[in-house]
Amino acid sequence: MTRILESAQLENEVKWENKLRPLSFEEFPGQDEVKEKLKVFVQAARNRNEPLDHTLLFGPPGLGKTTLAQIIAHELKAEIKITSAPAIDKKGDLAALLTSLKPYSILFIDEIHRLNRTIEEYLYTAMEDYYIDIVTGDGLGAMSMKFQLAPFTLIGATTRAGLLDNPFRDRFGIQERLQFYHQSDLQKILMRSAQLLELKMDTDGALELARRARGTPRVANRLLKRVRDYAQVKGDGHIDHKIAIYALDQLGVDKNGLDQMDRRILKLMAEKYDGGPVGIDTLAAALSEDRETLEEVYEPFLIQEGLIQKTSRGRVLTQYSKQISLF
Ligand code: ADP
Repeated sequence: MTRILESAQLENEVKWENKLRPLSFEEFPGQDEVKEKLKVFVQAARNRNEPLDHTLLFGPPGLGKTTLAQIIAHELKAEIKITSAPAIDKKGDLAALLTSLKPYSILFIDEIHRLNRTIEEYLYTAMEDYYIDIVTGDGLGAMSMKFQLAPFTLIGATTRAGLLDNPFRDRFGIQERLQFYHQSDLQKILMRSAQLLELKMDTDGALELARRARGTPRVANRLLKRVRDYAQVKGDGHIDHKIAIYALDQLGVDKNGLDQMDRRILKLMAEKYDGGPVGIDTLAAALSEDRETLEEVYEPFLIQEGLIQKTSRGRVLTQYSKQISLF
């Protein structure tokens, strides 16, 4: 029962995300440097009538990696196939994907750091020379056949570029890191989302949401969804500054943009470990949270905000984090 509910929720979430996903660079505020470079590379590939170089996009979840891949495909007028590394666990899965690609199309692999080594190496010839070896038969009768692929572009997304082997990473001609968003860009994203969802929202209300959205469009859109509920139940549906503050406070997102989990991490470090250093595994165990989520979702934001530092002996609280109130 819970599973069914969870999958329905997930489906809803995906539908909502797709509804709000921009389809062109113009509708995609923020990431200006990355965007400018990608525009040039896309235009150059189009002019030369060549596939775009293989591209690696990295950065914390929810910053727009999948969206950018779709925009690139759209601008190239190319087909895109979207998958994620955990869905490719046999060479056959990858071969089926690669052989089904049309010329110049895009294969997007999310969480690419999770590909197992055999699959990763199988990708090498496909990326470099557009061919793969396909083995037919078993044992002594097994035969290896070279299969020519259509020229294509692999776009890999990862939250952990450091986990990719060098030989694999080197095969991506374009490598771009996405940064957390400025408030003004998140505000634009929120205003656009509100318009698409036919919600009334003031620029002040949007700015308050943007301030507390951890620099992340996915979080901003999620907060918008919840704040909309408060605006409809406690107000007249209109999202202004006052209702935004009220709703965000009720949701446990404080004025520093920290959510409950952020505050738990900081409090634990302050109270139990005297500000650190404390190892990530110890933190994960004490918080009953998995290490990856801490490293990929929470830590990058806390580091970017100057609240914690990563040292060779573990994580430590900064002077600044000791000054802010966690309650
Ligand atoms: P990632 O692949 O990095 O986890 P996504 O591309 O799935 O992130 O983006 C998450 C959500 O945030 C999507 O609904 C997407 O439309 C939205 N989003 C991300 N970046 C932007 C942006 N610059 N402008 C508008 N919406 C964005």
